[in-house]
Amino acid sequence: MSLLVVGSVAFDAIETPHGSVPRTLGGAASYFALAASNFTPVRLVGVVGEDFGKQDEQILRRRRIDLEGLERAHGKTFFWAGRYNQNMNERTTLVTELNVFAEFNPKLPESYRDSPYIFLANIDPTLQRSVLQQARRKPKLVALDTMNYWIERTPAELRETLKHTQILMINDDETRQITGEHNLLRAAKHIFKMGPKTLVIKRGEHGALMVHNRFLFSVPAFPLEEVHDPTGAGDSFAGGFMGYLASAGSITDESLKRAMVYGSVVGSFTVERFGVDRLKTLTRREIEARAKLFSRLTAFKL
Ligand code: AMP
Repeated sequence: MSLLVVGSVAFDAIETPHGSVPRTLGGAASYFALAASNFTPVRLVGVVGEDFGKQDEQILRRRRIDLEGLERAHGKTFFWAGRYNQNMNERTTLVTELNVFAEFNPKLPESYRDSPYIFLANIDPTLQRSVLQQARRKPKLVALDTMNYWIERTPAELRETLKHTQILMINDDETRQITGEHNLLRAAKHIFKMGPKTLVIKRGEHGALMVHNRFLFSVPAFPLEEVHDPTGAGDSFAGGFMGYLASAGSITDESLKRAMVYGSVVGSFTVERFGVDRLKTLTRREIEARAKLFSRLTAFKL
């Protein structure tokens, strides 16, 4: 079933101990869409500038991502530069040039308005809500990501949007920041009162934890000898997670658990190479093979 994503489409400059790239396709919506396209048809809502070329577009088109909702505006595409040191969990943002993203006002093409699955990547919560208001039918599932910037500056708007969200996908710091509660399980109870009934806490190299009002489920990050570039791991996790759920059709406790595994698997592929490089060639067969390894990695007898 169709999965709609709204979020940033960017050019990134990335430096890690393994090398650097001066300009590569990035943005939360790009990572998400490429990851999810392994499972289900994806519709993308975003904005790019005049410098966004055919070859950039082709990276997304080759994975059959629907770009009718990708607006082209006068000006330059959102640009972000980041650096990682030996500890890849820490990242320094060197440059954020919003460019055409500053005036972004998402518009859903008519053909997108019936999307049953929606992922609201990290953008202004008011814009996230406007996407939901444009939907013609009540979506089957809405998941949302956000960041400290919106938690600090627009808490009331974020709360309003959360009322219409079933799954919140954020990291541990953001969970603590939204709720003012240090303990993650107690924090989850606060989140449940805000609207979402499922909290997925992304914990980088420590994997991810799902707190559902009926159960807890945890997945590790797949152990890799070399992580080349962690950029986009969280958005790829979200893409694998939502892509799998949209393809599964029904949302059950078991499909939510499998979605956690597929999210972690796809995220682990992304970090093997720079930018979206690994996602360009990733296949469902490779994903299934690693998911099997995952199952062996975590199974034990009592
Ligand atoms: P992640 O590593 O999953 O946090 O996502 C990295 C991606 O987020 C990069 O490709 C950036 O282009 C994009 N990004 C960085 N800052 C922002 C921002 N303020 N709003 C939206 N997207 C951003």
